[in-house]
Amino acid sequence: MSRFWSALTHTLEPYVPGEQPHLSALVKLNTNESPLGPSPLVLAAIRAEAGDTLRLYPDPQAAALRTALARYHQVRPEQVFVGNGSDEVLAHTFAALLKHDAPLLFPDITYSFYPVYCRLFGIACETVPLDPAMQVRVADYRRPCGAIIVANPNAPTGVALSRGQITTLLAEHPDVPVVIDEAYVDFGAETVIPLVATHPNLLVVQTMSKSRALAGLRVGYAIGDADLIEALTRVKDSFNSYPLGRPAQAGAIAALADEAWFQQGRAQVIDGRERLSRGLAGLGFAVLPSAANFVFARHPAHAGAALAAALRQRAVIVRHFPAPRIADYLRITVGNEEQIDRLLSALSEILGGPDHGAAHAAW
Ligand SMILES: *Cc1c(COP(=O)(O)O)cnc(C)c1O
Repeated sequence: MSRFWSALTHTLEPYVPGEQPHLSALVKLNTNESPLGPSPLVLAAIRAEAGDTLRLYPDPQAAALRTALARYHQVRPEQVFVGNGSDEVLAHTFAALLKHDAPLLFPDITYSFYPVYCRLFGIACETVPLDPAMQVRVADYRRPCGAIIVANPNAPTGVALSRGQITTLLAEHPDVPVVIDEAYVDFGAETVIPLVATHPNLLVVQTMSKSRALAGLRVGYAIGDADLIEALTRVKDSFNSYPLGRPAQAGAIAALADEAWFQQGRAQVIDGRERLSRGLAGLGFAVLPSAANFVFARHPAHAGAALAAALRQRAVIVRHFPAPRIADYLRITVGNEEQIDRLLSALSEILGGPDHGAAHAAW
């Protein structure tokens, strides 16, 4: 707190990212990173950019990357916007499209960055409770609003809406911007990018951080009607002309070219998720049906905070949110096989369950 701060700075309540500790023996299941690596083609493309051309600014329009994304998703380059991670794309979206007199609607339990952006940009917002099954109920959004944003699959629940349900949401709100944040869509939900062609109010946001194992590269993008993209570009060019460096643009293009790596990686995460979910259920956890690269689970007899702390003592880090309705849940990233085993074994030890010995013996 300082007298040099602006009035706005005093009012901010910043997002708190999951920690990034520097302990190599740690089983790090707290920020939904990929347990597999990025494609070797990506690494080669990034290395090829490490040369004299780093003297020069990158393409401010990222035309080659936008063209590659347009081809990949079967839209036109004017329908594609790229940014420094989808968090930046979302920030520009809030400023460009979601600030209106009527409130922005989003679920009460969702990506906790949304209320942070509202505060930063002075956006009126209203939360809509998830139903008792922790699902987004489209009918609950039938109320006056200036815009809607929904993460699909939702975070931190992992629960997904079908394309049909989002089609209904769009049909009921033709006159306001509707943003679907598809950060986790590749792990088992249906993208609504095909609906962009018929819905000028739809913006779909995706990221290379999760399903393409590139959280460290910072590449996210949005796909929507050219008019929506123009709004994002106006905000971006009022903020930072060069959000993506040359290595990021080249690496992202290469990621799109390695479809086999992508498909194999997501299949492996989906397999791991099913094994993790079964293991947790076997230990007595209630596990929400996840279409993401994490699961959201609670134990009927143990508080979430206590479990998270006990796991931490065993060098396993998961995410716990001390917020209403979800304080008893743990959000656990799907790790590789060894990480899943270590998590289940640590939990089994903590719970002192009957299969403690068996799970421990597995590794
Ligand atoms: C991880 C995540 C993002 C942002 O990811 P970036 O790394 O900034 O691309 C956006 N939305 C949701 C719901 C996320 O979980």
